Amino acid sequence: MAATPTPRRVLVTGGNRGIGRAVADRLVADGHRVVVTSRSGDAVDGLDVVACEVGDSSSVDAAFTAAEEILGGSVEVLVANAGITNDTLLMRMTEDDFSRVVDTNLTGAFRCVRRATTGMVKGRFGRVVLVSSVVGLYGSPGQVNYAASKAGLVGMARSITRELGARGITANVVAPGFVETDMTAELAEKTQAEYKAAIPARRFAQPGEVAGAVSFLASDDAGYISGAVIPVDGGLGMGH
Ligand code: NDP
Repeated sequence: MAATPTPRRVLVTGGNRGIGRAVADRLVADGHRVVVTSRSGDAVDGLDVVACEVGDSSSVDAAFTAAEEILGGSVEVLVANAGITNDTLLMRMTEDDFSRVVDTNLTGAFRCVRRATTGMVKGRFGRVVLVSSVVGLYGSPGQVNYAASKAGLVGMARSITRELGARGITANVVAPGFVETDMTAELAEKTQAEYKAAIPARRFAQPGEVAGAVSFLASDDAGYISGAVIPVDGGLGMGH
């Protein structure tokens, strides 16, 4: 018989919609206590929400403090999911286009991980899950900023693993392919059809399929998995 999973205190950034929302719902269903962040902090059906702008360290700190109050203790599982795209070809990409995406997707994750690991080290337990993307290792035209930010998360997870692995903390990356959310709804139908033709599964993922991988990485069964990149991409990035 399977052991009863240990309920954990979880924070999911950008958990009000899309992939983050599906992750939060799944972790609640798994029996964990979950708080999500959004920029506005507006109410989300069935979930506790705190406001957080990942581009601002003091906002991140305040969000963690508010979440810890709700959870009744420090965050044990961090899912750093908040992210943006701002696509344009390299020759047209301004420094601001580049920096804004890196500041949200990569430095934003750093701000959250740094705040979270203080409590994880004290508790000698932690699960860090960074939501990257297939394009981090595969590359994508028009996404030099986004791909660089997502590739950086791999080095981050592996460095956290080397620094904090002996303290009961794991850090892993989930690398989704195309997932049906607001982010991909922006793509023209023709572009979506071209992408689908290149994906061995011939379809985009549902957010819940990414949530399944995060759920596993947060579970007791994944305690010896760290520094891994788990693709959830229908086979698109195979070999990377
Ligand atoms: P959505 O655009 O649906 O949601 C993005 C989330 O990130 C929202 O909750 C948003 O909050 C939050 N967010 C954005 N910027 C900030 C910020 N500066 N500070 C705090 N929160 C912020 O995206 P998805 O659900 O599609 O994507 C979630 C993650 O998965 C992202 O990291 C994305 O890069 C990654 N991903 C997505 C794929 C896809 O095909 N959809 C594929 C591969 C990876 P708010 O609602 O307040 O704006």
